[in-house]
Amino acid sequence: MSDTGKILLVIGGGAAGLFCAVNAARLDPSLKVIVAEKSGKLLSKVRVSGGGRCNLTHACPSIGDMAQHYPRGAHFVKKTFHQFFVTDTIEWFESRDVPLKTEEDGRMFPLANTSQAVIDCLMREVNTYRVEMRMNREVKEVKLLKEERTPEIGKDAKTAPMPGTGDAVATATKKFAITFNNGERLEADFVCIACGGYPKSSMFDWLRALGHTIEEPVPSLFTFNMPGHSLNALMGVSVPEAQIRITGSKAVTDKPSNDIQPHNMLSGSKLREKGPVLVTHWGLSGPAILRLSAWGARELAACGYEFDITINWIPAYNEQSAAKELQRLRFELASQKVVGKNPFGLPSRLWEWLASQAGIGDSLRWADLPAASQNKLVRNLCVQPFSVKGKTTFKEEFVTAGGVKLSEVDPNTMQSRKLPGLFFAGEIVDVDGITGGYNFQHAWTSGFIAAKTIAGGAIVAP
Ligand SMILES: Cc1cc2nc3c(=O)[nH]c(=O)nc-3n(C[C@H](O)[C@H](O)[C@H](O)COP(=O)(O)OP(=O)(O)OC[C@H]3O[C@@H](n4cnc5c(N)ncnc54)[C@H](O)[C@@H]3O)c2cc1C
Repeated sequence: MSDTGKILLVIGGGAAGLFCAVNAARLDPSLKVIVAEKSGKLLSKVRVSGGGRCNLTHACPSIGDMAQHYPRGAHFVKKTFHQFFVTDTIEWFESRDVPLKTEEDGRMFPLANTSQAVIDCLMREVNTYRVEMRMNREVKEVKLLKEERTPEIGKDAKTAPMPGTGDAVATATKKFAITFNNGERLEADFVCIACGGYPKSSMFDWLRALGHTIEEPVPSLFTFNMPGHSLNALMGVSVPEAQIRITGSKAVTDKPSNDIQPHNMLSGSKLREKGPVLVTHWGLSGPAILRLSAWGARELAACGYEFDITINWIPAYNEQSAAKELQRLRFELASQKVVGKNPFGLPSRLWEWLASQAGIGDSLRWADLPAASQNKLVRNLCVQPFSVKGKTTFKEEFVTAGGVKLSEVDPNTMQSRKLPGLFFAGEIVDVDGITGGYNFQHAWTSGFIAAKTIAGGAIVAP
């Protein structure tokens, strides 16, 4: 229980909120820390993440490299990672009896292979540091009660409170009033908003009321639908490395007006990704598609998820080098059937389908391959066009792009630049990563920085 009467209210019992809460309570034992969670469950995304194993970070030795995995917020996380990086996450969990393991692709999981290990660890900290949980409390409003009265750290060293001593509290009343859905009201000195991403713009209204700007939310990490396409019959086929390029969109009009002609907003797009691709019964999925959806989240939303792509199924080749290779194969494999011999290591069902799309029958031999079919096969292998119509949410690791505008949050403290005493952590800010543990790393990092700042006694001048 608090010595000083200082209260931190954390809004949201997810990864970022609980990490902030337990660290703040540990670093400043005089602080009373309360977590308000709107649902009846804590850490629900941690539980289901990584297929129930919780991919809690990514083994990446360099801050610069790590930051490149965030389509939004790369510059921001470069700064926050200097305070709490992957190495700190590993140490934090391992020193609390959660050893971690790294998979071949760099994703890190608890050695126990279950997210329960992460949940148990965080809940142990909750109990040890007596963090109070208020469940089924949805915050409806956060209101500033009064302007700054607590002396600012560093402004007047003689009168400023020592971190954690609560010197200022005897004279200062609380700074924020928080109202919950059940009508309950709470006053707090610090508020950390860690409520995750919201899918709808209107859900951010209570944050806009605090004077913050919201970057419009759009989904990130989704798969591409190609309804009725013959490729979908190959569902389950995966290619370890293909290159996908976004080449154009359906014609759209940004602002309907007589003067503005519909235009193809994605022509000349630089959006492309290389990596594993999986054919599903509705279209395309796999790491390369998910990464592309994250990088293109805003543009693809703007064109209503109707756009064109090309796939190079054999990215070690371009049209010229693939044509040369096919020419060579005509001689080398002359008497063999084209569909029977798959020369590029592609899954045989895909090779057969690509050949059939080029008009190559089952019995055609390499020596008899007509030039037109050979050219078509080269194009299908290297620049095969597809039209995407719609998306499917990737339920394994869905995130929302958008949230509190980054220029309004100080990455050194995670404090609002508009309202001292107000902090943010996790997906609520306009940061999102691709799949692979990047989103949880941002949650731990931002939660920790907010905790450290608050426990340092810190209302820092914005
Ligand atoms: C199925 C799934 C799997 C995922 N797997 C991974 C993975 O393996 N690796 C990875 O890095 N990322 C993964 N992610 C993304 C990751 O889970 C999120 O980026 C991360 O959970 C964000 O943490 P957060 O604490 O900011 O938000 P959240 O985890 O969303 O927590 C926010 C909490 O705030 C509560 N809340 C919201 N509004 C209010 C309010 N007004 N008042 C009170 N409480 C409120 C919510 O109920 C929620 O409990 C996955 C996401 C999903 C959906």
